[in-house]
Amino acid sequence: MYNYKTGADYAKEQDRKDDLSHYRNQFHIPKDKHGNALIYMTGNSLGLQPKSTKAYINQELEDWANLGVEGHFEAKNPWLQYHEFLNKSMANVVGAKPIEVIVMNTLTANLHFMMVSFYKPTKTRYKILIESDAFPSDKFAVESQLRHHGFDDKDGLVLWKPRKDEALLRYEDLETILENQGDEIALIMIGGINYYTGQYFDLKKITELGYKHGCKVGFDCAHGAGNVELNLHDSGADFAVWCTYKYLNSGPGSLAGCFVHERYAHDKNLNRFTGWWSHNKQTRFNMRNEFDVLPGAEGWQLSNPPILSMAAIKASLDMFNEVGIKKLSEKSKKLTGYFEFLLKQLGEDTIQIITPRNPKERGCQLSIQVKNADKNLHNKLTEAGVISDWREPDVIRCAPVPFYNSFEDVYNLVEKLKSITDNI
Ligand SMILES: *Cc1c(COP(=O)(O)O)cnc(C)c1O
Repeated sequence: MYNYKTGADYAKEQDRKDDLSHYRNQFHIPKDKHGNALIYMTGNSLGLQPKSTKAYINQELEDWANLGVEGHFEAKNPWLQYHEFLNKSMANVVGAKPIEVIVMNTLTANLHFMMVSFYKPTKTRYKILIESDAFPSDKFAVESQLRHHGFDDKDGLVLWKPRKDEALLRYEDLETILENQGDEIALIMIGGINYYTGQYFDLKKITELGYKHGCKVGFDCAHGAGNVELNLHDSGADFAVWCTYKYLNSGPGSLAGCFVHERYAHDKNLNRFTGWWSHNKQTRFNMRNEFDVLPGAEGWQLSNPPILSMAAIKASLDMFNEVGIKKLSEKSKKLTGYFEFLLKQLGEDTIQIITPRNPKERGCQLSIQVKNADKNLHNKLTEAGVISDWREPDVIRCAPVPFYNSFEDVYNLVEKLKSITDNI
């Protein structure tokens, strides 16, 4: 559909034609010791720093220096409402309504808080279904919830597995599991994009299948937020969580996101863990009122949040909103398609791509297996100036990010891979 071509000239021409290419300049690109830009392919682990981030954080440091506690009201961006500046733009990025989204805590913490509300096991319906190769933190969180409620974490965990000699998951197999044990499953919790294979699941389809069998459904979208158009509201899922330090470029360990579907926005009976930040803003500082929960996802906050981390998130979201996730996603499809095209030139005997071929079933990441390769190959790539990510037993994950990666980056990456594999 894009009529890709080989050769460096083609890559350069695509960068010239790309009307998002100037954004690369708005990020700090890590360099080698000679000052040459590295080929950075790990935006799926830690996104790069926007050059604007420092000014956003400095603004808050200055307001704190000059105003002290008054900064809650008097800062340029008053701290009391700071999270509200983020809700709308974060909602745009993940395809949700502002009332459905909150930035708070960290990712795994949010997953637990969501399970407090949406994992309500009974004696007969208590199991949790996850994908077999879920991110370890998700698996550990889910197992500990099972134990917390007094269940066995092996018996209670249902795995959606790939078939023998396959890497990707099939919906037919999920349907079969649900037909056989759907009435024992309380919660389906899936990584919206699997971190290892890069498979982007059909969130709506999984939600509908889950509901048909009376299960609650949530997603961990750590690899989806800022990468694909998630359309969380339309998916109908009960909840979703994600981090902001991967594709959302907000800095190591930055605060996470959380989505609770609008249908719960005014449900005061839903059990949850609360704190003073879940309480009605009008009376929060009276300090002696009965608890009165805030509507929407905001009602899941506990503490007053770290403003410095939020400032970095604001810097990033302002960029996302300037472009729009739709436009980024269009470039992403083209860039990743080009990456796939070049890898194919190396021959399927040398390189296998385990990520789905269909652009609708993946984001920007391709997970590649190189025949007869071990971690040595990855070390050589690193020596050659490529920052990629090695996952045992034999997968290299590369994520060309539309905001800051160029067609030339992708071209150079594949050239380096070629010269290394030629010498294996
Ligand atoms: C990155 C990632 C995590 C990391 O969790 P933290 O709580 O942010 O440390 C968890 N789950 C998934 C699916 C991830 O991709």
